[in-house]
Amino acid sequence: MAGQSLAVPGAPAMHAMVLSGAGQPLRMERRPLPEPAAGEVRLRVLACAVCRTDLHIVDGDLPLPVLPIVPGHEIVGEVEALGPDVLGHRLGDRVGVPWLGHSCGHCAYCAQDAENLCDAPRFTGYHRDGGFASHVVAEADYCLPLGLAKPPAEVAPLMCAGLIGWRCLKAAGGRAMRLGLYGFGAAAHLIAQVANAQGRQVHAFTRPGDKAGQDFARSLGAAWAGGADELPPAPLDAAIIFAPSGELVPAALKAVRKGGRVVCGGIHMSDIPAFAYRLLWEERQLVSVANLTRRDAREFLEVAQVHPPQVHVTAYPLARANEALADLRGGRLNGAAVLLP
Ligand SMILES: [Zn+2]
Ligand SMILES: [Zn+2]
Repeated sequence: MAGQSLAVPGAPAMHAMVLSGAGQPLRMERRPLPEPAAGEVRLRVLACAVCRTDLHIVDGDLPLPVLPIVPGHEIVGEVEALGPDVLGHRLGDRVGVPWLGHSCGHCAYCAQDAENLCDAPRFTGYHRDGGFASHVVAEADYCLPLGLAKPPAEVAPLMCAGLIGWRCLKAAGGRAMRLGLYGFGAAAHLIAQVANAQGRQVHAFTRPGDKAGQDFARSLGAAWAGGADELPPAPLDAAIIFAPSGELVPAALKAVRKGGRVVCGGIHMSDIPAFAYRLLWEERQLVSVANLTRRDAREFLEVAQVHPPQVHVTAYPLARANEALADLRGGRLNGAAVLLP
């Protein structure tokens, strides 16, 4: 099991960046190569992107149900070993592994096509070891076939930034043509391009004074870019908040029109400050998005096939995962950080 044994010299081994406790740096560990159980596959990891959720896990913003744990849930890998009873995957296939690593299949949510809300889910890099590693074992039914003709480092960010971004975009509604994106990180830089391709007008809100981030947003087609303390030139139909600051909620409610919708896309946010009811009144809606379904993944990968987004990547060797996390925490990245084993 995780963290208990070092690999026997000469025996097949893998390496992984391991979290032992909240707030601690990840530590490189050598482990025996795991064998996939029934219904599982073992992948050789080709790339794994770093998501803000990984940061919330490492920093202890989320409860940690399993320790030690290998974070990482935006994995692109190659199928290297098949456990018993695996159908639909062959050795050598390139697949993606997202955050949803398992759902129970029989709770009220799973029964209603809402496996993202499953009562007994297992999330990759949270309940089971993830992709900050040379190898990973995943449930075959939750691995996504990948046909995109892009290098693995450019596909990895699609596995969460892209998929969750897509679920947020759907939650914003098909008629939200004037769309605001608060926090222009990995998810927004992908979803801005998808929204543009759908004919929507994108408004990017960054940290106040982040001119480089605003230029980056304009270079990807944003019609307007400014600080999160500014109002857009005209009220928005909807806004998606990707940044983890609760103070963006009243800011975004101020920016949307009557009947407009604000979607919170993150798994964790700082507390939302008290705000006047009139910001919500006139049928404005405030909703959140949690996790993803495999249907979201299929839909988004089809969209990405038709309108392949430019994916801006900063690559780090796996051993420098802590540096990638620090750069994400410090807001020093344009686009997505990706670890390469
Ligand atoms: Zn994520
Ligand atoms: Zn379920």
